[in-house]
Amino acid sequence: MKTNILSMALATTVLASCGGAGNETAGKDNLIYNVEQFADLQILRYDVPGFEELSLKQKELIYYLSEAALAGRDILFDQNGKYNLAIRRMLEAVYTHYEGDRNDPEFKELEVYLKRVWFSNGIHHHYGMEKFVPGFSENFLRTQIGKLDVSLLPLSGDENAETFCNVIFPVIFDPQVMPKRVNQADGEDLVLTSACNYYDGVTQQEAEAFYQALKDPEDQTPVSYGLNSRLVKKDGKIQEEVWKVGGLYTGAIEQIVGWLEKAEGVAENEAQRAVISTLIAYYRTGDLKTFDDYSILWVRDLDSRVDFINGFTETYGDPLGMKASWESLVNFKDKEATKRTELISANAQWFEDHSPVDSQFKKEEVKGVSAKVITAAILAGDLYPATAIGINLPNADWIRSRHGSKSVTIGNITDAYNKAARGNGFHEEFVYSDTEKQLIDTYGDLTGNLHTDLHECLGHGSGKLLPGVDPDALKAYGSTIEETRADLFGLYYVADPKLVELGLTPNSEAYKAEYYTFLMNGLMTQLVRIELGNEVEEAHMRNRQLIARWVYEKGAADRVVEIVTREGKTYVVINDYPKLRQLFGELLAEIQRIKSTGDYDQARALVENYAVKVDPQLHAEVLERYRKLNLSPYKGFVNPRYEAIRNGAGELTDVKVSYEEGFAEQMLRYSRDYSFLPTRND
Ligand code: ZN
Repeated sequence: MKTNILSMALATTVLASCGGAGNETAGKDNLIYNVEQFADLQILRYDVPGFEELSLKQKELIYYLSEAALAGRDILFDQNGKYNLAIRRMLEAVYTHYEGDRNDPEFKELEVYLKRVWFSNGIHHHYGMEKFVPGFSENFLRTQIGKLDVSLLPLSGDENAETFCNVIFPVIFDPQVMPKRVNQADGEDLVLTSACNYYDGVTQQEAEAFYQALKDPEDQTPVSYGLNSRLVKKDGKIQEEVWKVGGLYTGAIEQIVGWLEKAEGVAENEAQRAVISTLIAYYRTGDLKTFDDYSILWVRDLDSRVDFINGFTETYGDPLGMKASWESLVNFKDKEATKRTELISANAQWFEDHSPVDSQFKKEEVKGVSAKVITAAILAGDLYPATAIGINLPNADWIRSRHGSKSVTIGNITDAYNKAARGNGFHEEFVYSDTEKQLIDTYGDLTGNLHTDLHECLGHGSGKLLPGVDPDALKAYGSTIEETRADLFGLYYVADPKLVELGLTPNSEAYKAEYYTFLMNGLMTQLVRIELGNEVEEAHMRNRQLIARWVYEKGAADRVVEIVTREGKTYVVINDYPKLRQLFGELLAEIQRIKSTGDYDQARALVENYAVKVDPQLHAEVLERYRKLNLSPYKGFVNPRYEAIRNGAGELTDVKVSYEEGFAEQMLRYSRDYSFLPTRND
């Protein structure tokens, strides 16, 4: 499972991290971290702090694992649609050999289209799933293809330029052909109407029946059926084409295995070596039982500094949720930031004992969950260029309950979002005055991270249900109430003197940055993610509005929080921070009571009264102010580049990391160096 960029990272950028500009460093950050912007996308850069301090062996390990990560790139393109590799390679040939005016509007449109294909690993929007509409004409593309030496075209079988165009053009230009990568519309054949390449020649009913027949309801440790194969009908027979060495995608998988073997040779310890060798065995056999063995070894390996994901992992790209897209992430533990989460977890009992909730609803013995903070070294496959900022694996339920799971947050990616947002004008537009801007500039990143840590490590784990209360008693309101509870726990404690005592916050002022951004977001700026006329639906957004509107209303008599208008623009003002903290505590006590007693009626009343409805006038104003800032709703990253330095004897003596590469430059290099699959993989 991943905390994806939309559900959380966008929230992060809007909520906690749109740092104001105003100082020199901020301006510089902005230039370094923002690479470019096109369509609805923004390309950012992240850096890899701490890489230089790793041992040579750890650097070597990361180097081999990052090569294994890049080697799988084409797999995802083909999984996302059977013509994606043909289209990408053809467009790259046109793009690099074009001899006309590069400012020609049609060429510019082709460039944007190609960049979108690179970004989405195919011709469909990475989030919306709809097919891109090209801004250039069929005629323009046909003319450019005609000018190319035919050897540059990614032809298959006995195709020539003309027959190639006949196959590919409807896929690019005809809105009726492959309109959606994943179709979830109720009542349609989701397999036949989805453009993804996980099924060929089978209907949804046939696919479901095929896997139903394999399942044994008595099996307590079932494998993840269908995870690593395409389901096809050949000669009237439905069968799996397994992604493994010697099977489908063997060209790329052999490369991955080759690099994993090198990684195995420099593993940090025996546990990690076993993880890598079992993964290799799985890639060789395609045996899903071996995949479970690997997952268990991986989840148990908690001591290694370097860690990685490499394989068929998440199933969001399959309308039936069985087949996994290929992805990779190589990372190492951020020891400093992990100390922060460990310190919080170590004091979990203190926080539980001192919380403002009624003692009958408190846990007598609380266990903090220690999520580690990691530094990403490379992103690949379905984590590139758009990435998750939090990952929790493995996905198999029985492994999670018997062996646990690893939960990570990617610190340097969150940091890059924060830095890139500095000086983007967001705070200049929405924050009330310099006083608040300065607070946010100085403490915003720190208290934002702390709030997230308190939310994840303590908030969700705090409190208890009274005996006999059904955990699902709050029904559809359950997840909003749960998120509200975790957020309030974090808000209440981010202002606690205990945090200063533990050295987690520098002073008794810092928390104000989080209070201000939280209220500004909950009362106002999170509305930028909702279309005019719609209400608040997503649980995290509901929870934030619930909290913000409740404290606004309850503190109105004392003017704790005010909404003011200045020169026609609306702003949030906080007059009394200590009183605001008290209100957070009161609401936390009430929310915990609702949860502990399963009080459905009150849950419903709070959510419906505070969390759902939107003031249409304020909404329109916020959208208009946001539109003028020209910020992109979707973001992704270029990777750093790693280079192995060798001595005369060919021994690796260092690994250099550099950050200069541009987006197109990186994509073209990857296409040149990591194309290990045929254009058509039928
Ligand atoms: Zn949560």
